[in-house]
Parts: sequence; C-alpha cells; structure tokens
Amino acid sequence: MDNAKLNTNIASFCFNPFQENTYVITHANKDCWIIDPGCYTLQEQKVLISYIEKNGLKPVRLVNTHCHLDHIYGNKFVADEYKLDLGIHEKELVVLNAAEMAARMYGAKIPEKLEPSYFISENEKLELNDVVFDILFTPGHSPGSICFLNKNENYCIVGDVLFQNSIGRTDLPGGNHHTLIKSIETQLLVLDDIVEIYNGHGNPTTIGAERRNNPFLV
Ligand SMILES: [Zn+2]
Repeated sequence: MDNAKLNTNIASFCFNPFQENTYVITHANKDCWIIDPGCYTLQEQKVLISYIEKNGLKPVRLVNTHCHLDHIYGNKFVADEYKLDLGIHEKELVVLNAAEMAARMYGAKIPEKLEPSYFISENEKLELNDVVFDILFTPGHSPGSICFLNKNENYCIVGDVLFQNSIGRTDLPGGNHHTLIKSIETQLLVLDDIVEIYNGHGNPTTIGAERRNNPFLV
C-alpha cells in the first residue's frame, strides 16, 4: 500500500506469521528508509526487493521502532542486500538479544542475528535528505520503543505503541502498562488531530480518531 505525501511516500507491507507492517519511506529523490523489515520467507524478501527495484529506490537507512521478533526478521537480509547498518534505541538491545528465545517460545523461525551499529536517542532528529524525522521515546510496549515523526507532513511511524482502537500489549518482558499510557499521552496525544499514525499491525489511523475513539485512552 502506497501513501504519497508532498516530499515522501509511505509504503507498507504486511509480512510474517505475526502480520507485521514493514515500512519503506521514500524521499522524492528516491532515497529510502526501511523501517522494521519483517520479511520471513524468501517470497517476502522478493516482494520488498522488487518494490525497491521497480521504483528505482536507494535504501539509505535501516531502523527498528523496537526489536520484537516480528519487527526484525528481515534486518540481516536488508543489511546484507543494501549494505546498511542497523540503528535502534539502546534500551532495545536486551529485546534484540532475547529474539531467539522468543522465536522458540512461539515455535517460529529463529531470526538471523544482526547487531546494531549505532543507537538512536530520544529527542534526536534523523534526516532523509531535507526531510526531518523527530525521534520520540515511547517505552511501555517495549523498553526502548521509538517513533519517527514527520512534523511537516503530519505522520508518525509508531511501531506497536498505538493501534486503531487499541494500544500495544504490555505483558511481554520489559512491558509496562502505566509507562505505555504515559508515553502515548506525553508523546503522541500532544500532536495535532490530523497526524496520521502508521503502526506495526493493522490499519493506519490518526491522532484525532484515537483521541475520540480509543477505549484505552479515556
Ligand atoms: Zn512489538
């Protein structure tokens, strides 16, 4: 699914048995970021590659909103294919290191291991050419969850922090319900109603819709 903004395009792919949303954010000049590549099968790897080839894109950054299993399956493949380093929040290292254990618990494939090459800090800004993404620190679903906010184009890639009419689960190791609600209230609900929310599972939504309808936020 493609969603074109003025200077960037947001493409999403639903991958792996956990139905995780992988995002490719492309600048008008064709440079792109790959966020949370969840490619699980060879077929899913091919879907991502062919999208990038067909559109003549140049992947320039690989990042994870957080390191739960379903968000990292394609990390190693993307890093190798496009010669990219992985960036995550430092507090997700413990989650990344537990991925093999999580895979065994779910009876799912064990992801190929890829260590991060750098850490992304809260309140940092990352640039995709002239387009700036603010990094929001939103722990609770996972200890080092981050969101990528494009203020100019009014959208935010939030991982599993906030969903349409729901919020991230907090029963996994490092999760905390109170922390998650606080993250949503202080980092996301302060944004304008029109800001679009692109999440790790299910349909995109908006801050306004969740402010009005989300039963977890009343
Ligand atoms: Zn998650």
